[in-house]
Amino acid sequence: MLVDPGDFTPAALAAIAPTCVEGCAPGSVELVGGQVVYPHRADLFDRWYWRCGCGAYCGVHPTLKPLGRPAGPETRRAREAAHAAFDPMWRKRAEISGVKAHVARGRGYKWLAEQLGFDRKDCHIAEMDAATARRVVHACQRVKIASC
Ligand SMILES: [Zn+2]
Repeated sequence: MLVDPGDFTPAALAAIAPTCVEGCAPGSVELVGGQVVYPHRADLFDRWYWRCGCGAYCGVHPTLKPLGRPAGPETRRAREAAHAAFDPMWRKRAEISGVKAHVARGRGYKWLAEQLGFDRKDCHIAEMDAATARRVVHACQRVKIASC
């Protein structure tokens, strides 16, 4: 069971609320129970989600901080495609070079940030909009083609 948002003041919640990646106004995202996001998944009713008025949502860390930024269906699909393209690359790198997974992942994100022109600290697939997530797929495809 996650922390109860009732334990937090509205100001404390507002301070950690994410902004919607779909371009909605700040302040449109609130904490909701799992039954709002997944009405047919009783097993998720005791979870919390950050959800925007537009329906975009993201997961919640046990501290109530957002896991990424709320996203709609198209963005979630694009992020899944980005992970499907990117994750095997750093996993393969870990396997080949023998470095630990978190090290290979960190190096992978450093490379990805360079490809996208982002600061490393701002480069997280869970925070990307759909267009940026598609750029991840293209960047990974370029490497795969180049290494054939
Ligand atoms: Zn929204």
